[in-house]
Amino acid sequence: MFTYTSIQQYHIDLLNGSVTCTDTVQHFLAAIASRSNLNAYTQVFATEALEKAKALDQSRKDGKPLGKLHGVVISIKDVISYKDHAVSAGSKILQNFSAIYNATAVERLLAEDAIIIGVTNCDEFAMGSTNENSAYGKVLNALDETRVPGGSSGGAAVSVQAGLCMVSLGSDTGGSVRQPADFCGVVGLKPSYGRVSRYGLIAYASSFDQIGIFGQNVPDVAQVLEVIAGADEYDSTATEETVPAAASVTTEAGKPLRIAYFREALESPALDPEIRENILGLIEKLKADGHTVSPVDFEYLDYIVPAYYVLTTAEASSNLSRFDGVKYGFRADVDKKADLIEFYKASRSDGFGWEVKRRIMLGTFVLSAGYYDAYFTKAQQVRQLLVNKTNMVFNQFDALILPTAPSTAFKIGEKMEDPIAMYLADIFTVFSNLTGIPGISIPLFWHSNGMPYGLQIMTNRFCELSLLQLSHQWMQRYRFAGQHEKP
Ligand code: GLN
Repeated sequence: MFTYTSIQQYHIDLLNGSVTCTDTVQHFLAAIASRSNLNAYTQVFATEALEKAKALDQSRKDGKPLGKLHGVVISIKDVISYKDHAVSAGSKILQNFSAIYNATAVERLLAEDAIIIGVTNCDEFAMGSTNENSAYGKVLNALDETRVPGGSSGGAAVSVQAGLCMVSLGSDTGGSVRQPADFCGVVGLKPSYGRVSRYGLIAYASSFDQIGIFGQNVPDVAQVLEVIAGADEYDSTATEETVPAAASVTTEAGKPLRIAYFREALESPALDPEIRENILGLIEKLKADGHTVSPVDFEYLDYIVPAYYVLTTAEASSNLSRFDGVKYGFRADVDKKADLIEFYKASRSDGFGWEVKRRIMLGTFVLSAGYYDAYFTKAQQVRQLLVNKTNMVFNQFDALILPTAPSTAFKIGEKMEDPIAMYLADIFTVFSNLTGIPGISIPLFWHSNGMPYGLQIMTNRFCELSLLQLSHQWMQRYRFAGQHEKP
């Protein structure tokens, strides 16, 4: 039986002949079929994946060198363009639309011989925290099917959690990689803004969006990052900064670290007391291991979620204006005599789901004359204060730790009637998107309710290497270091 541990081990096994890419793809196709009730995938490319596997098996026989992701079975979220394959952002408005080019990230995966096995379900236009806002229906958390996997990259998280691929690409605008990773008990990285090209990523809020990576361990995530990161002529925000080398991630982060946490975050009444206790317990362990861990006052905690929702909905209302029933996918069946405005209205009313419509309206409102300064300008000012604060923190500290989410995975339906409660649960993740710094969730803990949860770690912008090094080290040292064992 094939068991997957890491890309590195898989490559050793491929080279010593104990496994082939074909066996591996067959294994994952069978796993996907046997867990189809989870609804993690919206498309599976069985024939294509098997053909690619066969070609790779042949190329090894021919003695050709291995690409960095040779035979690595990967899934991509339904917001990432894969040429000639359907991409819908989980929305009816993109029904029957196929990508006409590859996202840069996809192009780079393929160039290193990855096998894209399918497309994962997500909240419509990546708006949500539970994966319940998808035109393809909800995704179930594989550890407890009465719970959500988190969102918006819920299908991506479950595809790794349930062993339905090795690694997965998601997107993170306000937590959509880290929070589902936390709810599902896997690793989820949101790189710095600008680290990975957004070319071919369907935009939600362009100054926040980043492609992120799910994996079972940190070195796998680092390997995928090394491949997809870096400057890109198609995205001027993609940085020229050196891409962190995956091979350096397993070397010691070394020296005692100076670690900060936001006092108000750990004191927040919204935080599950058990999560608080376990993170405080971890802080004691970090100190015992020679690191300094200090509280930092964070007077802006109550403002970050409002600032995030004002700015992202504003950007979304503009980004989503292109979906008008003319250019892509879905088109409402209106009376031939209807004028253009009526036609737009019918297509957009019918094509978008409720959450997306709520955000387009909210975004249009905060940008409208008379309200612009009160909301949009104000939120931008808050964003600048947060950037200043971040600079201050990283002048003094190497890393910042926070919970990833205030609770473990919600029950299905629990938050659907109360969008504000759902938004507030993003309290710990939106900070890194507002400031552009990298953040990761690593699965360190189990709750007494039987669900996993993670620790969120952040470093300064473009300091992914130290982020990944210390995450790897802490995964080895503190995994399941909390009060509860894996059930
Ligand atoms: N839950 C957040 C939202 O609904 C985050 C979404 C995301 O990161 N794509 O906006």
